[in-house]
Amino acid sequence: MKSSFEAARQYFEEAASVIGLSESLRDLLVTPEREIKVQVPIKRDNGQIATFIGYRMQHNSARGPMKGGLRYHHEVNADEVLTLASLMTWKTAVVDIPYGGAKGGISVNTKELSIDELERLTRRFVDEIHDLFGPDKDIPAPDMGTNAQTMAWIMNQYEKFHGFAPACVTGKPVELYGAEGREEATGRGVGILTLAFLRKFGRSIENATIAIQGFGNVGSFTAAYLHQAGARVIAISDVSGGIVNRNGIDVPAALEFAAANKSLTGFPGGEPISNEALLMLDTDVLIPAALGNVLTEQNADSVRAKFIVEAANGPTTPEADAIFRKKEIPVLPDILANAGGVTVSYFEWVQNQQYFRWDLSRVREELEKYMTRAFHRVWTISTDKKVSLRTGAYILAIGRVSRATELGGI
Ligand code: NAD
Repeated sequence: MKSSFEAARQYFEEAASVIGLSESLRDLLVTPEREIKVQVPIKRDNGQIATFIGYRMQHNSARGPMKGGLRYHHEVNADEVLTLASLMTWKTAVVDIPYGGAKGGISVNTKELSIDELERLTRRFVDEIHDLFGPDKDIPAPDMGTNAQTMAWIMNQYEKFHGFAPACVTGKPVELYGAEGREEATGRGVGILTLAFLRKFGRSIENATIAIQGFGNVGSFTAAYLHQAGARVIAISDVSGGIVNRNGIDVPAALEFAAANKSLTGFPGGEPISNEALLMLDTDVLIPAALGNVLTEQNADSVRAKFIVEAANGPTTPEADAIFRKKEIPVLPDILANAGGVTVSYFEWVQNQQYFRWDLSRVREELEKYMTRAFHRVWTISTDKKVSLRTGAYILAIGRVSRATELGGI
C-alpha cells in the first residue's frame, strides 16, 4: 500500500499531466515553503521535564495566508504533516477561499497528559513558533486531539507577544471570537454535497440508503443532516464497532446515546456490524468519516455501494480508487467533500478581522453557496475532460494555485 505521501503525490501528478503543467511549476508546487520542527519541553505535574517534538509545515501561500489544523497524536510525524499541509493547499483552492495550505502537530499521546500539562505544552509550542504564524501568515485550527480550548490557549499566548489578534487561529469557542456553525460545518458540507452528488445522477435523497463509518464530529453531523433531509441512514459506527438497521436508524436517538455513553456500544436500534463489514454493505451511499486508508486494493472489489463520499481525509488508496473507476462507482473526493470545515473557519477569520459577528443562518447560507459552487465547477471539469471527480478537483485546485503563482511571480 502506498503511503499517504505517495498517494497525494500520485493524485497531484495525474491532474498536473492532464493540464500539461510544466516541470518547473510542478517542482515549485510540491516543495513546501517552510518546514518547522521544534523542541517543546514542559514540566510535568510531577516536576519531571518531558520533551516533545512539534511541527508546522507551511506548504504554499500563493493564494493567501496558510491555513490548516494542529494535530496532537502519538503517530504525528514530519511526512504525514507535510502531506496534510499539501492537501490543505488544494482544499482551500477548490472551494476558492483566499488561503494557502499548512498543517501542524505535536507527537504526543494526549491521554497521558493532564489538562494542565496540555495547556503548558500548547503555550510552549506557541512560544517557539509565534513569529511564524498569525492572521496574515498562517492560521492554525483544531484537528485530531485538539479542540476549541486548545485554540483559546493558542490565541491567549500569541496575544502576549503580538497584542489583540483573535484571527491568529480559528475553531475558537463561540464565547471567545469563535463562529456559530463551525462545529457542524464539515458534516453539514458533506451532507449538502451528498444531495448535490445524487441529484447529478437523477437520484433523490428521499429514502436513499446511507452507511457512515465514524460517528465523531464529521460522521455524526453528516448523519444528522442526511437523516433530516429524508435519507435512510442504515449503518453507523465508531471505533468500538457498528450498528446496522435496513429500515433506517433513529439518528436523533443514536446521537443522544453516543453523547451519553461516549460510544455506540449497546445502542439498541439495530444489529451489531463490524467496521470492515459496514464498508461492504449494499447501500446507495458509503461515507467513510473516520480514518484514512480504509478502502484499499484488498477490499475495494467487495464494495457494493453505488456512490462513495469521502468525509475522512484520504480514506481511499490510489489502488482502490482505480478499482472504483473500473467498477464505475463515482467517488466524491475528500478535498471537496470535507472542505466545509475550513470554509467556516474562513468565515470565522473574516468575522474576527471585521469585529462583526454573523448569525447561524448566514453562516449556513454562505457555506452552502461555497460548497455547491465548488461542486459544480469540479463536476464541469470532470465531464469536460472525461476524468474522475478527484482528478477534476485537483485540476481546479492546481490551476488556481499555479495561476496565482504565475501572476504574483517569485
Ligand atoms: P473525531 O475524532 O471526532 O471522530 C472520529 C470517529 O471515528 C469516532 O467516532 C471514532 O470512534 C471513529 N474511529 C476511530 N478509529 C476508528 C476505527 N479504527 N474504525 C472505525 N471508526 C473509528 O474526528 P472527526 O473530526 O470526525 O474526523 C474524522 C475524519 O474527518 C478524519 O479523517 C479527519 O481528518 C477528517 N476531517 C475532519 C474535519 C473536521 O472539521 N473535524 C475536517 C476535514 C476532515
